[in-house]
Amino acid sequence: MSSIVQHHPRRFHTFHYVYPVVSRRSGGLSIGVNLSPTALCNFSCVYCQVLAENQENAARNAHAATLIDSDLLETELRQLIGMVNDGSLFRNTWLSRTPLEKRILRDIAFSGDGEPTLSPQFSKIVQGVADLRREICTETTKIVLITNASTLHRQSVTNTLKTLLADNGEIWAKLDAGTADYFRTVSRSAIPYEKILTNLTEFSKTNPVVIQSCFALLHNKEPDNEEIRQYAERLKLLGQVQRVQIYTVARLAPESWVLPLSNEQLDRITETVRKITALPVDSFYSA
Ligand code: SF4
Repeated sequence: MSSIVQHHPRRFHTFHYVYPVVSRRSGGLSIGVNLSPTALCNFSCVYCQVLAENQENAARNAHAATLIDSDLLETELRQLIGMVNDGSLFRNTWLSRTPLEKRILRDIAFSGDGEPTLSPQFSKIVQGVADLRREICTETTKIVLITNASTLHRQSVTNTLKTLLADNGEIWAKLDAGTADYFRTVSRSAIPYEKILTNLTEFSKTNPVVIQSCFALLHNKEPDNEEIRQYAERLKLLGQVQRVQIYTVARLAPESWVLPLSNEQLDRITETVRKITALPVDSFYSA
């Protein structure tokens, strides 16, 4: 399982917008939907795999949105779900190594190469995917949005997220820091830390969220105890936190000074967060 989850390409076959992955955090097969073909994002995380794989392209297109061909996206998604359902996805592709119990589609995830909520077609495409899920997926298949929480104050985004939540959806929102300084270092975003916290706090007052936090060795230093304590205190201020997923970098980072935490270091963070917050916390080692 460890090798297949390490294999995480965001391109498959001739598809433009969708790709299968075996995801540790999903607990099995996930179909990624990429709404950011130009890597549009308002963060530039030090561990971002998109930047690692395609630095030049990501930088060049960092501020350009592009129109998605929503009909093609639906056709591709329908075809890929069909390949899961008839088993052909697991024949003659790298996914043939997928263990039998992982061959069930756990979720359709808006993730891809950038921040999905920045797409001007976000609402329309979420609605289309929700309709398709109801038509051809099992009840248990979720729709997941992976977001950096920077747009959760926008009414159009929150309205869409409510639709998604009502359709067996989950919002997985990133929070990688307990202080503004650490946030700036890791996200390299112009958006203030307090803005992200306010977005998360307001949104989670009335909606459930899963918090995702990536910690790593930066210049050979793990996040110190005070950073983790403050991070945990911030989590306590949020409303409906379903669970917290703490992980470290599992693949190549764009910066050579960003490296995975050891299992012991990750365990220490996880234990501290559990103790301070009493929330359900899952941790994911680098391999
Ligand atoms: S928010 Fe996501 S897509 Fe954007 S830079 Fe960070 S890891 Fe990459």
